[in-house]
Amino acid sequence: MADPKLFTPGPLTTSPSVKAAMLHDWGSRDGAFIDMTARVTDQLVALVDARASHECILVQGSGTFAVEAMLSTAIAPGAKTLVLANGAYGERIIEMFDYLGREAIVHRECETTAADVARLDAALKADRDIQFVCVVHCETTTGILNPLADIAGVVSAAGRHLIVDAMSSFGALPLSVDNVPFTALAASSNKCLQGAPGVGFSIIDKAHLKTCQGNSHSLSLDLFAQSKGFHANGQWRFTPPTHVLASLDQALTEHANEGGVPGRYRRYTENCRTLLEGMSGLGFQSALDAHAQAPIITTFLTPEDHRFDFDRFYRALATRGDLIYPGKLTNADTFRIGCIGDLDKRDITQLLAHIGDVLAEMGFENGRVSA
Ligand SMILES: *Cc1c(COP(=O)(O)O)cnc(C)c1O
Repeated sequence: MADPKLFTPGPLTTSPSVKAAMLHDWGSRDGAFIDMTARVTDQLVALVDARASHECILVQGSGTFAVEAMLSTAIAPGAKTLVLANGAYGERIIEMFDYLGREAIVHRECETTAADVARLDAALKADRDIQFVCVVHCETTTGILNPLADIAGVVSAAGRHLIVDAMSSFGALPLSVDNVPFTALAASSNKCLQGAPGVGFSIIDKAHLKTCQGNSHSLSLDLFAQSKGFHANGQWRFTPPTHVLASLDQALTEHANEGGVPGRYRRYTENCRTLLEGMSGLGFQSALDAHAQAPIITTFLTPEDHRFDFDRFYRALATRGDLIYPGKLTNADTFRIGCIGDLDKRDITQLLAHIGDVLAEMGFENGRVSA
């Protein structure tokens, strides 16, 4: 049977060649794997134009492991951080600060509102003790885009450090250290890079990294020590996810072949536009204003109609090979459909046709949820 199509925020549909890249074994201390590790980190750091200034440090685990490794390494235990939060991933960062016992103040927005740059600017001017600002680039809770370039401008003008969770944007949304000065960012293999899940990374300013010895509370998540290990012999400190790295290596080749970030951005934008137009035609309402929507994942309000039952809707689509995603909004009943991964406009069009069929099956006349 064919694999399901993953219209989700990750893990995502990967290409046959990315899957095939995992059909081998590598010795973790062998030259071929050491070369692969170096090749992958070099390509990742080049994607944000940061070869000269930053270092990419890989870490085993899902994206959350990479975020926690980045925060605990890059932010000294005594430092004060301002976290901008407008969704579940911002809240997860705040929870990490609690676990770490490190000081964070929070600017919270509702989940459909982007981070407030003027408020950030005022806070940095008023409180000289804030050394770090933490933000999620695309908040995957809704798919909302935070104004990262404006945030970076304000943070850098104030002489503070910017720390970015770029998990769901890295490789698809434009992001260059030239116009978004950042101290550290984190992302993972299995979102817009379209690799298999299991490895994350942080791209950290080299000069800053030199000051980070002893910051981390954790042996396995200490990116200063991880970097020291890579520099010593090109090897990972602990068992690397060899197959996952091989899939990421192949995925990066395919990313370059697609035209890099602009190429991927174009395909995802087309996917997102097709999806929003089609869903609107089917009578669904998007939870976000169009201008705030990143071409990563879309959120729709669950129709208030007794005939619409999300679990049934989900299962009927799954039977047709399409996996969508439940909503994560705290104040509204929603569901999500991703537009990333190895999927194109034809896949979206087919999904929309399936949704129309399912609506008809659920008793909606003409396969539409509203008149
Ligand atoms: C996916 C994601 C993460 C990490 O999630 P994992 O499930 O640990 O991979 C972190 N932040 C954002 C914004 C994400 O989209």
